[in-house]
This record gives sequence, C-alpha cells and structure tokens, in this order.
Amino acid sequence: MNQQSDNQRPVVRDFIRQRIDADLAAGKNDGRVVTRFPPEPNGYLHIGHAKSACLNFGIAEEYQGGLCSLRFDDTNPTKEKLEYVESIKEDVRWLGFDWGDRLRHASSYFEQLYEFAVAMIESGKAYVDSLSGDELREHRGTLTEPGRESRYRRRSVEENLGLFKRMRAGEFADGSHVLRAKIDMASPNVNMRDPVMYRIMHAAHPMTGDAWCIYPMYDFTHCLSDYIEGVTHSLCTLEFEDHRPLYDWYLIAVNANPRPQQIEFSRLNLSYTVMSKRLLNTLVNDGHVSGWDDPRMPTLKGMRRRGYTPESIRDFCQRIGVTKKDNVVEMGVLENCIREDLDPRAPRVMGVLRPLKVVIVNYPEGQVEQLEAPNHPKDPSMGSRKLPFSRVLYIEREDFMQSPPSKFYRLAPGREVRLRYAYLVTCVDVLRDEQSGEIVEVHCSYDPETRGGNAPDGRKVKGTIHWVCAKSALTAEVRLYDRLFRVENPVAAQDDKGFESLLNPDSIEVLPEARVEPSVKDAAVPTSYQFERQGYFCVDGIDSRPGAPVFNRTVTLRDTWAKVSKARGG
Ligand code: ATP
Ligand code: MG
Repeated sequence: MNQQSDNQRPVVRDFIRQRIDADLAAGKNDGRVVTRFPPEPNGYLHIGHAKSACLNFGIAEEYQGGLCSLRFDDTNPTKEKLEYVESIKEDVRWLGFDWGDRLRHASSYFEQLYEFAVAMIESGKAYVDSLSGDELREHRGTLTEPGRESRYRRRSVEENLGLFKRMRAGEFADGSHVLRAKIDMASPNVNMRDPVMYRIMHAAHPMTGDAWCIYPMYDFTHCLSDYIEGVTHSLCTLEFEDHRPLYDWYLIAVNANPRPQQIEFSRLNLSYTVMSKRLLNTLVNDGHVSGWDDPRMPTLKGMRRRGYTPESIRDFCQRIGVTKKDNVVEMGVLENCIREDLDPRAPRVMGVLRPLKVVIVNYPEGQVEQLEAPNHPKDPSMGSRKLPFSRVLYIEREDFMQSPPSKFYRLAPGREVRLRYAYLVTCVDVLRDEQSGEIVEVHCSYDPETRGGNAPDGRKVKGTIHWVCAKSALTAEVRLYDRLFRVENPVAAQDDKGFESLLNPDSIEVLPEARVEPSVKDAAVPTSYQFERQGYFCVDGIDSRPGAPVFNRTVTLRDTWAKVSKARGG
C-alpha cells in the first residue's frame, strides 16, 4: 500500500483524506499523491491561508512519496508584486513547510498555456470575441436568464487563429478582443457561458516582464497548471464548487490525462476579525493598523510578531479540521493553542505592567541581595535565575487596595502578602499625592525570617504577588492587544459605512512605563516569556532596542473573554 504507517497518520480522517485513501485503494494516479498550495502574490498570507497550506503540505507529508508544490498563481500582473512572492515564501517556510524543488509560478507556463489555447481554437473549442466589455456583460445573462451568443461566435478557425496571434503580437488595445471557450451560453451555470480565457493587458508582469500583453484567466490557468505539475488532488475553497465543471471542461478540452481532481473545503473564518486580502488591505491603507505585520492582524506576519509560534498555528489548523460546512471559529480556540504551546516552554519572568512604588522601610538602605527563582515552576531542566531584591520595589497597581473587600488576597493596609520568591511583607503606610489624592507610594515592612516566601512559624499568607526591584528593573513598553473588531462577524455586520465603525477602539493599549526584571535585558530578538500572573509576552522584533525592549502581549493566561461574555449572558 502506498500509505504511510498508521502511527504517523492523523487520527481523524477528514473527507479529503478519506477520498485520497479511496483513490489509492482503487489504484488511481498510479498511487501518486500530489498537491499544491497556490497563493496569488497580491498580499500577505493570513491564518486562512495557513489552513490551506497545512492541508496541502500536510497531505504530501503524510502519504508516502507525496509531493506538494508552492505555486504562485500569478496571472494578474497589475495586482502582483515580487515583494509578496518573497514574503509568502518566508511565511510558508516559517510555518515549517518545505517545497523542496517544487517552487512554481503559473507565469512560467504562459507559453504552454498559449499552446493549449491554440489547440483549443484549432479543435473549434475557443474563439476570439470582439464585443465591448459592456456587450460581454449584457450577453452573459443572469442567474435566472440564459446568456446570448455573440455575433463573433461563428468565426472560422483560421480567423480565430489569426486574431489570437495578433493579440499576442500586441496589435490590439486592451479590451478590444478576448479569447473565449465555446461552451454553452444557455448553461444554468454562468461559469460555463463561454468564459473568457485570455484578455489583452498591456502591462509588465513581475516575472515575465514585457514578454506578454495577453494574460490567461484564473480558471483556465489553474486547472492546466495543476495538470502540468501532475497534481492529483487540487484542494480549494468552497466558492470554487461552481467552477468545477469548468475545471473539468478545460482539462477534457486539451485531452489531459490523467486529470487532476478538484475537491472543495470550507474556508476558515475567525470571530472578531476579517480574512480577506482586500479587507485587510483596507485596514492597512486607511491606517487602522500599523501595517500587514501589526500584531492585531490575522496575517502570519502579524501573528508571528505578536508571539504566535508555527507549532501553535499548525496545531490550530489540525484542531479545526477540514469540512464542507461554513462556520466561524471562535478566536478562543486559536488562543488556547498558543497557550498550550507556550506553557511548557516559555521561561517565567516577573513584569509589572502598571507600576506602584513600594518601599520596604525596615530593609537596609543600599543593600541588594540576589534571590533565586526557577525559570519554570514545573520544569527544573529550564534552570533558575537570580532576582535582585532591595529596599525599593514595584508592584502592580491593581495588587494594592486601600479598602479592599474581604476576598482581596493582595496588599492592603495592615495586610501581609507574599512577594513571589522573596519575602512576606506587611503594608504599614500609604502616601498620596496632595493634589490628586492618587496613591504614589506604599510602605511595607518585611519579615527577614521569610526569605524565599515561607514563614518559619507556619503562619498562612494567602496572597502572592509579583514585583521587580526598582533599581535593577528595566523600563519596557508593553502593548496589550484585544480583538480588532467589536463584533463577532464584521463582514456580516458591515453596512454602507464600511467596517470602520465596527472596529474595537480599545484593540491596543500601550503601557510605556512597565518594568521587567533584569534577566530579560538582552532580549532584542523575539523571545516569548510568561510574565507571571499576566500572560505570555513576546519581544517585539521591530521596535525593541537592546536594553529597551518592547513587549507584545500574545495572550492572557486565561480566556478572559469567555468570562466577560458569560457575565454578559453571552
Ligand atoms: P483572499 O480571499 O483572502 O484574498 P484568496 O483565496 O484570494 O484569499 P489566494 O492567494 O488565492 O487567496 O489563496 C491561496 C490558497 O489559500 C487558495 O487555495 C485559497 O483557497 C486558500 N485560502 C484562502 N483563504 C482561505 C481561508 N480563509 N481558509 C482556507 N483556505 C483559504
Ligand atoms: Mg484567490
């Protein structure tokens, strides 16, 4: 059997894998499994593309001898750029996939595609139409009305060949002629109403330069590119279901054998964000985000900058699976994947997001001691680090309350609390700003007998809070992110005002005065940490400077949104 052993295969056999299993069992395609991941280089990849990449590359990895190419579907020169080609390659590699020697461009098939088109003209399956754009639309009919045949449909093979050659030679202006497949203007499927195969476009192409002034259309190009590459299973999203008859028609028209099989699956939609390059482009161009790599974007560049790992994204794609049912996946599913990935491997550090100054009044002035803290409480193999402790510290502002409710197990006047890995301290005084009344400083006394955080007399102290030593702590900018949109399904909720009004105005909060313990000092490259009690944070690879890190919050420790929406009755 041409399948790999059971222990390597995913437990869940989705309908596509079942289909491939069946094809192999029936001896189809001589036992080959060949897929492709076919982005158009007109933007950056997003998490939806990751689903497709995981499916196509994943299948190639799972089946013995399986192959997957990275194919750029680059037939629209005015929208495509080499910049996108490079970034897509980078993202696919980052996700962990290897196309080996199977890097392809549909544009490298232009000559072959042209030959196929000529053969179709010769066999009477294609013709040059010279209707205007408006006339073409008008002849097309509607979903309820059949289309009408063009008056040019009966041109002779010779005339069509001559015109098509002259189209290629650049003798005609954009829009003056098109090459169409001769199928059926009365077909209930509008895709089959003599679809355009080639259009004239005097535009330079990122790959082929000025070599061409006619460009093949997507439907014509895609199936034949699949065929040229020996693709066996051409996996695409559901909106192409109605294009499948055309996919097959072109292959039959050129006597393709064996024919690749198109199989459709549902797109990934994620709650509280959008997933189309066009809409993401709008967000960038209108300045709603800082760029394609803004950590709030669902792009791979943005997610990577935010601290998502390739492992967490692949795990996510595996968990959501592949079906034919359209749905919206909860953002919480994605967030759980990154939590589970980072939990065992992110070193723990202490970071104070909104600092409040604490003075330990009975601690000797000028003294600094080095305490010891494990880098991971459950994994001794990750080692430990030194934590400087001295008279002036910072704690989290929200860990102190002047008049707390009884269940507030943190710091308050007269209450004792544990400073993580340090000492038990008791609040003895509170200093306020005379004008504003704001708390500016908290005074505590510490119990020198409690080094490490345990009382020798066994007295119970419920609360443990994090802290940093003021003198050695590093000032850091911390960026907290929240949902980009206020509504679960922005596309559905969109009205004529566009989706501007649907954006979450609080999707980013910048805390320029956060403090982190000195052990992270050298972190100028993206590294993920768990800030104890706060969440997972990743060094921002673009804005950080040595000694002045910027941190992006990847995700909170718990699904705070689930709690919020439960409280709202959602
Ligand atoms: P967009 O609508 O975001 O512009 P696209 O389909 O035009 O996406 P392509 O570059 O053509 O973008 O996509 C490359 C591959 O990724 C295609 O096979 C496409 O079907 C798939 N893909 C795109 N978006 C999604 C998604 N949300 N879920 C799953 N697969 C997707
Ligand atoms: Mg597309």
